[in-house]
Amino acid sequence: MTEHGAWLPTECPVASDEEIDRVAEFLARGRVLVLTGAGCSTESGIPDYRGPITRLRPRTPLTWQAFADDLELRRRYWARSFVGWSSFRDARPCAAHRALVALESASIVQMLLTQNVDGLHERAGHQAHLELHGSLWRATCPDCGHVIERNELQEILARRNPEWARCGRRALMAPDGDADVDGGGLTDFALAPCPSCGGDRLKPGVVMFGESVPHAVREASLAALSDCAGLLVVGSSLSVYSGFRYVQRAAQQRIPACLVNIGLPVRGGELFSLRVDGRAGDVLVRAARRVGAIDSLDIGHHRVGHARYPSNTRAPG
Ligand code: NAD
Ligand code: ZN
Repeated sequence: MTEHGAWLPTECPVASDEEIDRVAEFLARGRVLVLTGAGCSTESGIPDYRGPITRLRPRTPLTWQAFADDLELRRRYWARSFVGWSSFRDARPCAAHRALVALESASIVQMLLTQNVDGLHERAGHQAHLELHGSLWRATCPDCGHVIERNELQEILARRNPEWARCGRRALMAPDGDADVDGGGLTDFALAPCPSCGGDRLKPGVVMFGESVPHAVREASLAALSDCAGLLVVGSSLSVYSGFRYVQRAAQQRIPACLVNIGLPVRGGELFSLRVDGRAGDVLVRAARRVGAIDSLDIGHHRVGHARYPSNTRAPG
């Protein structure tokens, strides 16, 4: 574990004051659309896929077709998800999420799109946002459309797998809200039947590889892009097309784009007019302070301090 958590090296690049000035200038123009990726949550302790540490151990993404067709694979997925859920559930928003809330409260960020499925923007108090890839906080039945809260599902799984619940198996957190569980027995894990139709294909409430972003979400997000004056991408390798699409469209519509990311993205680097190599938590807090959206020093630790919240927003816990 380094000072930035388990998923980032101690030696992360640090943006210069000149770079922060340029990000602040970009933000000060207002009407910003933000697109976040897994890198926005690494400082909350959730691993990404292709960061400086995680790319050394690439994962095979779960495809919808394999999940739907293969009962054993579903057992393994839910066993690992059962073990990983408590760490995922307990993750808290980090400085990056809170700086984005402050920028929204200051009417600089007008909409946020996230590729993340951890619910941390909402938990931080972000108002206008869309989850492009759904959320792990719920599970759905592909056969009847039933939706169940993930916490409720955890209780059902615990009742059906008392030995797993009793031994309190813990393991290293993995990016899909699951855990890298070693050892056998995964295929003995009892699935929870759908509470509505009794089927055994409950799936996490996320867009898996091989599925598409829901039409309404896609339309709303593209409308938000057409309506913005600048696109700010935070912590994404842009290797997933459903995220990259916004950068491509922004370039087509001549909307300036800024990237805050550790390392270059997998593709599209040349489409950004401004690229800052640095930690999202550090860059966003410093830039938000520069534009006057934050006037407290303690955002990096526990709360946004005196950031201006709209009266209907609860402060992040
Ligand atoms: P990715 O792992 O492909 O890329 C993350 C990028 O962020 C990397 O380039 C990395 O170097 C950078 N990064 C890591 N920590 C950072 C930090 N603190 N500040 C700045 N940059 C940082 O992630 P992606 O592009 O979002 O694509 C992964 C897909 O997997 C997404 O579609 C998402 O749905 C899913 N995913 C979600 C979560 C989550 O919900 N937290 C986690 C892992 C993967
Ligand atoms: Zn069902």
